[in-house]
Amino acid sequence: MIFLTWQNYRNQLAVSEPGEIHINFDYFYEPGLKLFFMIKTVAVIGAGTMGSGIAHVFAQYGFTVNLVDVLPEKLDKALETITKNLERQLSKGAISTGKKEETLQNIIAHGSLAAGVRAAELVVEAATENVDLKMKIFREIDAAAAANCILATNTSSISVTSIAAVTQRPGQVIGMHFMNPVPVMKLVEVINGYSTRPEVTKEIMDLSKKLDKFPCEVKDYPGFIANRILMPMINEAIFALYEGIAGVEAIDTIMKLGMAHPMGPLQLADFIGLDVCYSILKVLYDGFGNSKYAPCPLLTNMVNANYLGIKSGEGFYRYVKGSKDLVVSERFM
Ligand code: NAD
Repeated sequence: MIFLTWQNYRNQLAVSEPGEIHINFDYFYEPGLKLFFMIKTVAVIGAGTMGSGIAHVFAQYGFTVNLVDVLPEKLDKALETITKNLERQLSKGAISTGKKEETLQNIIAHGSLAAGVRAAELVVEAATENVDLKMKIFREIDAAAAANCILATNTSSISVTSIAAVTQRPGQVIGMHFMNPVPVMKLVEVINGYSTRPEVTKEIMDLSKKLDKFPCEVKDYPGFIANRILMPMINEAIFALYEGIAGVEAIDTIMKLGMAHPMGPLQLADFIGLDVCYSILKVLYDGFGNSKYAPCPLLTNMVNANYLGIKSGEGFYRYVKGSKDLVVSERFM
């Protein structure tokens, strides 16, 4: 069987013998022509918190996943985490033993980006949130990936349009913003860059549904939708604490019991990482030039002092290894 991933191709059909067809796959790009995709192999760049979750989900739904990281220990850790999470799914009866084994077999770890993306029809970049790094990675992916490969980024805050502009295929670059933890959270925010082609968006929307996710399409403006709404709420909660209007526990309880949020905004900030919240607020502040997004001075102080939430052991709450108790930091007692 022959699959043509692009409908419009400059192929020469040469019939040398009756019934025998030779196709010269000389793909080319022409604006206005409709693209078709057939995604079976996905390269995931970055094997950290998000990359390991994204690899897990694609592999679970039958895709071959090339998981790429520059640090071998991150690849080892990712495979360990995926195995642990699959075991949890198995113990809950959500998957079978066969599915667990199949999922693990679908994941191949790579230290080389070029080798990892070469056979992929989709690349999902989930490397460290740093503009220069992402631009460098996208130039490398663009040079190594097949012409018809879609390039997606899981960035929380960097402009998809700017990332697309460093590639030779801006129409095939899109945001695929998964939420943490990826195997659990249903949302995928699908972000159209300025140049993203409609058929690329459709492919990514359909693909997200195949992963049993709910994709929502948004345009590429600072913070997209999720963080544009979430981060000002977190910032406002920090302002309320800073101004002494209520304590940590009261602010979080009001939002949990009053608004049916599963987690209060201060606890959520600790979970996300206060440095991450700070840098997303800066993106909103710089991107819109509006002072309403300015990070609260208390948040700035906490980030400068390395009180970053769960990852540093203390933020608005204090975290003790092995304990699930939520204890307010003594600084806010
Ligand atoms: P992380 O720090 O856990 O993982 C990043 C990984 O990228 C690391 O393993 C690192 O070694 C790797 N990496 C760095 N440079 C690389 C390169 N050149 N090639 C390959 N791998 C490289 O970060 P994370 O929390 O998983 O975040 C990844 C992306 O997902 C970021 O863009 C972030 O904004 C976004 N995001 C994060 C969350 C979250 O809650 N953590 C949620 C949504 C989106």
